[in-house]
Amino acid sequence: MEVSHVSARPKAYFTLWIMLNRKLATVDRLAKWGMLHNKACVLCKSADESIEHIFIECHYARKVWERLLYWIDNHSRCPMTWSQFIQWSIQHGKGKTTSAQLFKSTLAEGVYELWNERNKRLFEDKSSLEDKVVKEIAYVTIARASNSIKSVINQRKL
Ligand SMILES: [Zn+2]
Repeated sequence: MEVSHVSARPKAYFTLWIMLNRKLATVDRLAKWGMLHNKACVLCKSADESIEHIFIECHYARKVWERLLYWIDNHSRCPMTWSQFIQWSIQHGKGKTTSAQLFKSTLAEGVYELWNERNKRLFEDKSSLEDKVVKEIAYVTIARASNSIKSVINQRKL
């Protein structure tokens, strides 16, 4: 019997780990080092960038999370604050069930792709719509899932 499993790429888990430890070089942190450019969030351009903003408050990020939660059939609401985000990550990611694995993988790939999108906009002047980012996260997740999980999530609408 094949064991059901899905896991994010190591670089995605690494980015998630750095993010959860609040060590990503967001502009509010760069400002402390005197390395300041424009402080506005490049994803929505309507608020200052901070780690809470870019991954939790930003409407670009919220759209991405809402679609991913729907896709993995997780009925929780996307958290609104940093402490809720941490609690939510632990609550839905613990254990070895398929839904916990899917949640963890999607969370890691989601954080990775949002950070990647932010960096592309900031340093390469390239941008993608939420839809493309969501599809990329789903694509990577499906590619790394065992056949039993693949057959279930492949049929779901994004
Ligand atoms: Zn924003």
